[in-house]
Amino acid sequence: MINQLRGKGVFGDAVLDAMAKVPRHLFLETALDYMAYEDKALPIKCGQTISQPSTVAFQSELLDAKPDMKVLEVGTGSGYQTAVLCAMGLRVFTIERQKELFDISKARLSALRYRAKCFLGDGYAGLPEYSPFDRIIITCGAPEVPQALLDQLKTGGVMVIPVGGTRQEMTRIEKRGPAPSDLLIQHFGDCTFVPMVKKLAYRAL
Ligand code: SAH
Repeated sequence: MINQLRGKGVFGDAVLDAMAKVPRHLFLETALDYMAYEDKALPIKCGQTISQPSTVAFQSELLDAKPDMKVLEVGTGSGYQTAVLCAMGLRVFTIERQKELFDISKARLSALRYRAKCFLGDGYAGLPEYSPFDRIIITCGAPEVPQALLDQLKTGGVMVIPVGGTRQEMTRIEKRGPAPSDLLIQHFGDCTFVPMVKKLAYRAL
């Protein structure tokens, strides 16, 4: 899988070396783990999906993060993208709104010794008590860019967020100053993520 991604020639070594260290099959239900190293998004619990490896590589690349930076991820899901960010040497804070996925991914990440801080919460609100963040990555499709998240981004920081409805546009926002006119907004093509939804969701296990 990594060689296939390397062959595309668009992802840097920092991202691909980190991805090479993360066992993606351990982030899937066992019935699907035989497909873990194909470049496909796959279903996880609660009607959600683990992102496609090339999408994980792409978002990680757009973040342009350096080791030790503080990163907020919205949409822990399986925890795979979280683990890749940890393997890149980042200090990761991740939020998930589905209690069941939060429980599974928190236990999984800690069993695999990834030191991400996992939170059950609504990513629209972010984590003001841990802000500001150097980088923010959203792994669900946001109807609009949440202002609370922009507020929690450091000046000089970068947010990578798929913006739109059923299809979204991969968007990179660089906060070059405090005013809305200081935002450098760039678009990187269409993508399809599960939607970013407000409020927590509890399902019986
Ligand atoms: N990075 C994950 C992607 C999972 S899919 C992975 O690779 O496995 C996106 C996740 O975002 C889903 O688990 C969904 O429940 C979560 N999500 C959607 N809206 C959210 C919100 N407002 N706050 C936190 N998580 C949210």
